[in-house]
Formats: sequence, C-alpha cells, structure tokens
Amino acid sequence: MEQKISLHDKTFRLFIPNETIEKAIDAVAARLNKEYADCTDEHPALLLCTLNGAVIFSAELLKRLTFPLEFKACKLSSYQGTTSTGIVNTEVPLPKNLEGRRVIIVEDIVDTGTTIETLHGQLMERRVQDVRICTLFLKPEVYKKSIKLDYVAMEIPNKFVVGFGLDYDELGRNIKDLYVLDI
Ligand code: 5GP
Repeated sequence: MEQKISLHDKTFRLFIPNETIEKAIDAVAARLNKEYADCTDEHPALLLCTLNGAVIFSAELLKRLTFPLEFKACKLSSYQGTTSTGIVNTEVPLPKNLEGRRVIIVEDIVDTGTTIETLHGQLMERRVQDVRICTLFLKPEVYKKSIKLDYVAMEIPNKFVVGFGLDYDELGRNIKDLYVLDI
C-alpha cells in the first residue's frame, strides 16, 4: 500500500490500513447480529445505505450480517470539497412504505451530525418502529448533536479523510485503506 497518494490538487498520507477497518467492522457486525437476532422474514430489518460514501461499508456489513434484512439506499449531501456546507440536500429520496419498519442507517462518517440529524428526523416522520445509526467513522471532537449513535466502528480525529468509500471531489472512493489530508 502507498504511503502517500494525490487526488486532484491535494496529497494524502496513509492513516488506517484496510485490515484494521475490517476488524472494526467485524465487531460492529457481531453486535448487530446479536441485537437484531429476533428479526423474521415477515418483519425484516431495513439496512438503509447513505450513498455514495457508505457503499463499501454497507457491502462489508452485508457480508457479515446473518438476520433477515432488506437493503435500500438514499442520498443526502452536505459536503463540498473538504468542508461541510451545513445545508443538506436530498438527491435520492427515502424508500416508500417505511411505517413500522426497524431501520438501521448505515453512514460512512459522522462529522457535525447535520446529515444524520436530518435523515433521522425524516425517518421519524415516516412513523418507523425504530431507527438506529451505524457509522463506520465518527469525529467525536466535532459531533455535538443529541442523537444517539448506536454503532460506531471507529473514532477518528477531526481531519479530512478519503478511501474505503469516502471521496475528495468524487475521487478516492475505490482506495482500500483510509488516507488523511497531508498538511
Ligand atoms: P456531517 O453532516 O456529519 O457534517 O457530514 C457527514 C457527511 O460529510 C458524510 O456522510 C461524508 O459524506 C462527509 N464527510 C464528513 N467528514 C468527511 C471526511 O473527513 N472525508 C470525506 N471524504 N467526507 C466527509
């Protein structure tokens, strides 16, 4: 694996290797398997992937989850380049007929929490039975919202990262390891 990579005009250095991320996903998946073991074919959980960043995390979770579930996706966006705009746009709307469902939101990274707060609110309005949040990364120094983050695979410092599904202006999602902005 490369120690440094360039994307557009920026350089990033290796931060967390793929194996470490996958081990953290093993642990989160084991917790989910325990806590959702009572799901049935008649009442499956709904894994809701937030596009595009959470695609790799969602796929890795799907490979590990053993309880009955459906998989759907939605897309909200708040980032431009390397900073949050604070305004959340809906690009792919929520799936229909969510009433009574047990929803697990799968997020790539929670930063300010604006995106997750918006999505959580939209799901509650749809009268779901239960919403839990499962995020691959959390920046605890930045997160100040009151919504509980039920499953956090890894906590990271307040730095801009790419790889494992996360992009810098659409590049870098296909990099296996996590890289951090080198400044
Ligand atoms: P929030 O709404 O919590 O401030 O931001 C969440 C969204 O911003 C994430 O789903 C992700 O798309 C983007 N984001 C936040 N931090 C980072 C980061 O360090 N790197 C990348 N590539 N995207 C980030």
